[in-house]
Amino acid sequence: MKVTRSSAIIPETDVTVAGWVHELRDLGGISFLLLRDRDGIMQITMPKKKVPPELVERVRRLSRESVVRVVGHVKVEPKAPQGCEIIPYEVELLNAAESPLPLDVTGKVPAELDTRLDSRFMDVRLPATRAVFFIRAKMLHVVRSFLVARDFIEIQTPKMVATATEGGTQLFPISYFDREAFLNQSPQLYKQIMMAAGLERVFEVGPIFRAEEHDTRKHLNEVTSIDVEASFMDDNEVMRLLEELIQHVYVVITEQCSAPLKVLGVTLSIPHIPFRRITYADAIEIADTPWGDDLDTAAEKAVGEEIREHYFIVDWPGELKPFYVQPQKNLCYAFDLMHPRMELASGARRIHDHRLLSKQLADKFLAPESFAFYLDAFRFGMPPHAGWGLGAERLLMTMLGLANIRESVLFPRDRRRITP
Ligand code: ATP
Ligand code: MG
Repeated sequence: MKVTRSSAIIPETDVTVAGWVHELRDLGGISFLLLRDRDGIMQITMPKKKVPPELVERVRRLSRESVVRVVGHVKVEPKAPQGCEIIPYEVELLNAAESPLPLDVTGKVPAELDTRLDSRFMDVRLPATRAVFFIRAKMLHVVRSFLVARDFIEIQTPKMVATATEGGTQLFPISYFDREAFLNQSPQLYKQIMMAAGLERVFEVGPIFRAEEHDTRKHLNEVTSIDVEASFMDDNEVMRLLEELIQHVYVVITEQCSAPLKVLGVTLSIPHIPFRRITYADAIEIADTPWGDDLDTAAEKAVGEEIREHYFIVDWPGELKPFYVQPQKNLCYAFDLMHPRMELASGARRIHDHRLLSKQLADKFLAPESFAFYLDAFRFGMPPHAGWGLGAERLLMTMLGLANIRESVLFPRDRRRITP
């Protein structure tokens, strides 16, 4: 079926358009069908004098959100949504919508987030919801092209694994034939193995699974992680890469997503780089947190209110970071990238020495047998390397000022929700 999008209609031509019945209006001598497609709303105008009465009657009986195809003539009309209107020759019902509708798609009656997520197919018909996912798609596209331009190779690592990445209990078990396995919580071990494989610069945009039982506005149980690992780079070099990526995303979204940003009422302010670097010691002092404690939500908020722009926290105590982070006297070469609202990314310079890595595993009470496949990669020529993992949903939600992380993913997985 050849149809023209609402954004591509040309005045004084005949067109075929298709979409959803957004609204019907009857003003006596003239009636209107507002037809919505992915790009916007079209006005189908039916003056009684020009359109046969049985066609007008058929259109009037259409239920809202039914799918129709319209063949008609386009006329300039400055008061109509696209600056033009369509006088129909023919209106074909392709599929009728039942009523009542689970959600009001005109947005006049705002729905609770849970109701919206239950009927996501309907919710995404709302321009404001759709705008978020246009920007999300663009954001991930920009991330990929930025990293490819920096000579990174995109890889895919397994999501079904036998071992935890970092120990701990935050894993979803799955049954794998006659064994227990897990959904991977991070591509960490595999992207490091690719450093031993000589790929030098890799990235992955893929799902990570966290079985944490939190019920917050910034945690999901299935996340899209943007992961990077680079040989012959240290922590400072991958931090620079990360801040340049963040700034680049803001610049390109501003340039290329003006329409969806306008729908959302969002104006981005481009973050200045380099981002401020503060130490863990500085952060806990601002937040009044004791040494050795991780920064909880309240602490992140306190520091965020003080700094009020993106920043890095560096010089972490080793015991707060995973076993594969390179130690630095009594600290380690790890960093977190923070938005004033929350953590966006964690990264580090990694250990590349096999003996040190084995020792760190033992110190963290992790069983070396379970990590044998990983440790092997460090025995036959592992280059020094560094990397980070950036949460796509957190990047999107902080950029667009979304209140809840569930708004930044089509079908969120959380403590209570596994359908749709
Ligand atoms: P937090 O302390 O905020 O729970 P984390 O330190 O446990 O996060 P990491 O293991 O460092 O998370 O993962 C790297 C990045 O992946 C995080 O900075 C975040 O952007 C994202 N991420 C991790 N877990 C989640 C989650 N449960 N929900 C949403 N994003 C997450
Ligand atoms: Mg972290």
